[in-house]
Amino acid sequence: ENRGTKGIAALPLPQPVKVQEVRHTKIFIDNEWHTSSSGRTFPTFNPATGHKICDVEEADKEDVDRAVKAAKAAEQRGSPWRRMDASSRGRLLHKLADLMERDRLLLATLETLDTGKPFLQSFFIDLDGSIKTLRYYAGWADKIHGRSLPVGEYESFMCFTKHEPVGVCGAIIPWNFPLLMFMWKMAPALSCGNTVVIKPAEQTPLTALHVGALIKEAGFPPGVVNILPGFGPTAGAAIASHMDVDKVAFTGSTEVGQLIKEASAKSNLKRVTLELGGKNPCIVFADCDLQLAVEETQKGAFYNQGQCCTAASRVFVEESIYEEFVHRSVENVKKIVIGDPMDPQTSHGPQISQQHFDKIMDLIESGKEEGARLEYGGAAVGENRLFIQPTIFSGVKDQMRIAKEEIFGPVQCIFSFKRQQEAIERANRSQYGLVSAIFTRSMDRALSVSAALETGTVWINCYNALHAQTPFGGYKMSGNGRELGEYALAEYSEVKAVTIKLSETL
Ligand code: NAD
Repeated sequence: ENRGTKGIAALPLPQPVKVQEVRHTKIFIDNEWHTSSSGRTFPTFNPATGHKICDVEEADKEDVDRAVKAAKAAEQRGSPWRRMDASSRGRLLHKLADLMERDRLLLATLETLDTGKPFLQSFFIDLDGSIKTLRYYAGWADKIHGRSLPVGEYESFMCFTKHEPVGVCGAIIPWNFPLLMFMWKMAPALSCGNTVVIKPAEQTPLTALHVGALIKEAGFPPGVVNILPGFGPTAGAAIASHMDVDKVAFTGSTEVGQLIKEASAKSNLKRVTLELGGKNPCIVFADCDLQLAVEETQKGAFYNQGQCCTAASRVFVEESIYEEFVHRSVENVKKIVIGDPMDPQTSHGPQISQQHFDKIMDLIESGKEEGARLEYGGAAVGENRLFIQPTIFSGVKDQMRIAKEEIFGPVQCIFSFKRQQEAIERANRSQYGLVSAIFTRSMDRALSVSAALETGTVWINCYNALHAQTPFGGYKMSGNGRELGEYALAEYSEVKAVTIKLSETL
């Protein structure tokens, strides 16, 4: 099954394009392409083959300074971007979405080359989500406004609020959904009239750079979006600590999230929104649609080779259906096709890097050593490559490393529970609180359990149901703030309250 393609099976499948040479590999500032001020470049690799795709200019602090200068000039009062009426901002976002539709095959190919995710997933999930996010926030651009408030003695004051852009918004992007995470941050920022300085992950800079060319072609004024490929401790840290960056949005590890907050605290107290890790619980009750629960929890565990902050890594199954659930899960996982990510039949590609592969294999070993039962997988596939079999452990206990640590790889841990209250308590026993899922036919039970779960998202009888309209973010150490939906607009706006004392009360 190629996920995301349901219902279009009768149509000819989209095919990757041949990429002879990657066109955009430079730093994008002020709508122009620049070489790095240090003269350095870095290679980006295809994780499916280990081959270098190309070299990319390496931005660091000096380049960040240039980009922030450009972004600040572009958001000054009186600049073309600030003077533009809101509906024209919306039209530019739609134009960019149109251009991404036009280049959809190329963008999906570049995403697959750089990340190793199956091409059809890039095409149907990443590109679809990216384009819809742009269109959703294009629609908001001319609907962002304040209120009038009754204050003071009757009609002695007039008070109104205005929503203004925050200013220069930094965005630091992970490698698991390079284009989608870029759009989740850029689209609401631009909709609200901000300017953007973004750093893609060093492993996956290519789609962001292609978008740079489309930003220029769409007609955004220079400096509105600036794209800086580079590394975290240099370019990323320079954005997080910059005195002229007014807000930073980050998706990635909890450890780096903490560094970003620290950098904000030690510089200009810039606003920070964070999307961090998860150790996401699913609770599967005996009265559920069992096959649906098996398929959805597995989709949650293995999607994007498990490299998702939303990965369904802890599945709590009611004791009476436990054996059957494990059995069906093992049968179901056999449908996953490991292979060349460019092949439309493939549903499971390589992990992103050797370092990450080693981390996942170490956790799989710990699961075996600590006594979890390896039901399926657990091994690497192919030589000198980064593929790992989808792996299922049953009999997992709460104190094992695989039960506590974020694996960020294709490992599903299945636990058994006896009572509802016990399942809720164990599900909540985590430093994380990103997403959770409940499988039951009783909506009454689903709603009361959803109230007790400490996560920013609860899915009922589904998984990874993410939409541009729906806010997304974490409780506890999974993050701060919300992306997507109307809620994200608040993260990208300042509210100004204007109060007028009337000279006469009639
Ligand atoms: P990371 O947090 O190190 O990297 C994410 C982004 O932050 C990258 O763009 C990176 O260059 C940047 N960065 C790194 N150090 C920085 C610093 N000091 N200042 C500013 N920016 C910095 O993630 P990783 O090393 O690629 O992956 C490690 C783990 O993080 C994974 O195993 C996974 O658990 C987690 N992760 C989570 C997500 C998510 O979607 N929440 C995404 C990627 C990784």
